[in-house]
Amino acid sequence: DQRLAQGERIRLAYLNAHGSNLAAAHSTFRAALSKFTILNDGVGLDIAARVLNGERFPENLNGTDFTLRYLRQTRLKFRVFLLGARPGVAEEAATALHAMQPRHTIAGVHHGYFSEGDALRIAAEIRASNADLVLVALGNPAQELWIERHFDDMGCRLAIGVGALLDFAAGRVSRAPSWLRRLRLEWAFRLALEPRRLWRRYLFGNPVFLARVAIARLALRASP
Ligand code: UDP
Repeated sequence: DQRLAQGERIRLAYLNAHGSNLAAAHSTFRAALSKFTILNDGVGLDIAARVLNGERFPENLNGTDFTLRYLRQTRLKFRVFLLGARPGVAEEAATALHAMQPRHTIAGVHHGYFSEGDALRIAAEIRASNADLVLVALGNPAQELWIERHFDDMGCRLAIGVGALLDFAAGRVSRAPSWLRRLRLEWAFRLALEPRRLWRRYLFGNPVFLARVAIARLALRASP
């Protein structure tokens, strides 16, 4: 809120172990992320923080919980545009979000299954809606790349890459039970829901992430 009140325009990303692996492998994503304020999402980032900095993060700031909490607690009133998810989902999410937080206005919605050729038209639609907050739900890294490419076209003050938030808000996908979330194991629940899409990401991606953390630790030790 303070940064926005001072006139800053903010790109916000939630980074989990998968996102970190993607950033390590793709220089375009890494370059885009360097323009973002990045919040820690998930147990992998916690392990990395403990190994590399000696302490874990005070809280898990995943896209669903923290975005909703921010909308609840901010003193600002936003005009919100929802971009992403399958056709029909953003409309349902808009209804649910407005019922939860009537202080904010829904400025518009657009689904997330469009061609590159439609991107500029959609960014212009967002600008024309006068939205000052855009929630972009296109998955990693597409949502951050979209924000980076179209931040100025959209004209908003705050753009957040929110992953599956619209699916959750619309009630299309269930959240993990709170005890699993407290243990920071929501990823295991999502793996159980969508094993075919996610098994490679978690079963290969998590060990790769931990290996990258171990290498970074060794590099820290080796440096004077
Ligand atoms: N999505 C989209 N357009 C696409 C691909 C994905 O709008 O071309 C949406 C998808 O419907 C879902 C969200 O992006 O609502 C992806 O959320 P999730 O966090 O599951 O993605 P991940 O980054 O984990 O793959």
